[in-house]
Amino acid sequence: MFEYAPAPESRSVVDIAPSYGLFIDGEFVPPASSGGVFKTVNPATEEVLAEVSTAGPEDVDRAVAAARRAAGTWSALPGAERAKFLFRIARIIQERSRELAVLESLDNGKPIRESRDVDLPLAAAHFFYYAGWADKLRHAGFGDDPRPLGVAAQVIPWNFPMLMLAWKIAPALATGNTVVLKPAETTPLSALFFADVCRQADLPAGVVNIVTGAGETGRTLVEHPGVDKVAFTGSTEVGRQIARSIAGTRKRLTLELGGKAANIVFDDAPIDQAVEGIVNGIFFNQGHVCCAGSRLLIQESVYDEVIEALKRRMATLRVGDPLDKNTDIGAINSAEQLERIRTLSDIGAEEGAERWSPPCELPAQGFWFAPTIFTGVTQAHRIAREEIFGPVLSVLTFRTPAEAIEKANNTPYGLSAGIWTEKGSQILAVADKLRAGVVWANTFNKFDPTSPFGGYKESGYGREGGRHGLEAYLA
Ligand code: NAD
Repeated sequence: MFEYAPAPESRSVVDIAPSYGLFIDGEFVPPASSGGVFKTVNPATEEVLAEVSTAGPEDVDRAVAAARRAAGTWSALPGAERAKFLFRIARIIQERSRELAVLESLDNGKPIRESRDVDLPLAAAHFFYYAGWADKLRHAGFGDDPRPLGVAAQVIPWNFPMLMLAWKIAPALATGNTVVLKPAETTPLSALFFADVCRQADLPAGVVNIVTGAGETGRTLVEHPGVDKVAFTGSTEVGRQIARSIAGTRKRLTLELGGKAANIVFDDAPIDQAVEGIVNGIFFNQGHVCCAGSRLLIQESVYDEVIEALKRRMATLRVGDPLDKNTDIGAINSAEQLERIRTLSDIGAEEGAERWSPPCELPAQGFWFAPTIFTGVTQAHRIAREEIFGPVLSVLTFRTPAEAIEKANNTPYGLSAGIWTEKGSQILAVADKLRAGVVWANTFNKFDPTSPFGGYKESGYGREGGRHGLEAYLA
């Protein structure tokens, strides 16, 4: 394989402050307790990027109070006026997208090609899309006078920090709610940058508040009695805890949790195209994707052909510097996540599955994992049942469509699935029987703000995106 010359994006396009306060009531403020700071690192180099504040109960209290004070005037604004703020935010995200893309790649480890071409354009698109709804809520199918819920507590994960923020904040604001958002502890920087975007857009103080910290800050926020709505994206385990903690309160809840999607390749599929979809399904964003196609189901008659083509394609993937525009696979987000991927992969090998990775040199510093496939996987294997959340694919086989459907549905999750076949009738028949919130046909990992996204079973409940996404924020 020929080599590409390095094509690094410039790190200097974004200014990162040495330390950050909390964004409450339109201002950056220090946390009430001065001991509450933590460091956020670049996972590709382990370099400390900034010190970030831990919000304690007093800070969360202040943020919720600010959101409450702002709620009256914000919800009383005509929808068309709220829309102007959302449009303005969308435009500023576009204008500052180069800075934001670099910041996201530095803090998260994802390739700049993905933050630049996927995360940032989609984040802006969400604000544009929900700006369009703000003055049309009466026509959205939720009654003549849909009302906001009040103050929304929003907790997001580290895999798409800016995009998950947009999924949460855009519909909440369009419907007249105010928010307190907590980004993940390993990727707080784009949310803090967004706080500055809100100021630049002259968003009224208190409409958006950003509190940083780890799980304890998240727990304090969702359990705060002043909150009317909780929107959580993250692991099923934490989602369960949150559901338990707010059961019996008047709070409304939406949960976007884990997944273990089946990507099903039938024998009439265009193989080269399917292989691109398999690679995109599991290696996009280092496999840190809730809807990743992490279980590949191949029809037996084309098994050898698909595996051979897949291995050939995997050997061309470039793993390395996230800021290099040629990079396909960046760094694993944290040492903890790397440990989890290693542990589950070792268990896969111990349980008898056959492990394969292309030859690839991993950088000495930082958190890295080579793209990996396991063949000979059975449904009993842990790597076929548990979410690995890394660049690791478990391959299974099937003979008939009925067997593919049964295997695909044999999971506690139900977030997404993929089908590869030339027959439209096969697509419709199979998609109809898959218990998954999103089913892609002859493509994978495609997102659009107009399309609802969400799961069944242990993947959570409620929908984000599209007209459906408004419902979660309306009384
Ligand atoms: P996580 O559940 O550990 O953390 C998610 C967020 O919750 C973080 O901000 C964390 O600080 C916070 N948190 C932790 N404990 C908490 C508690 N007790 N109360 C309130 N907040 C708490 O998940 P993660 O490791 O950051 O993210 C990976 C998981 O997220 C995967 O399982 C993935 O599938 C899922 N995910 C789902 C979607 C979706 O739309 N369904 C999207 C992205 C990620």
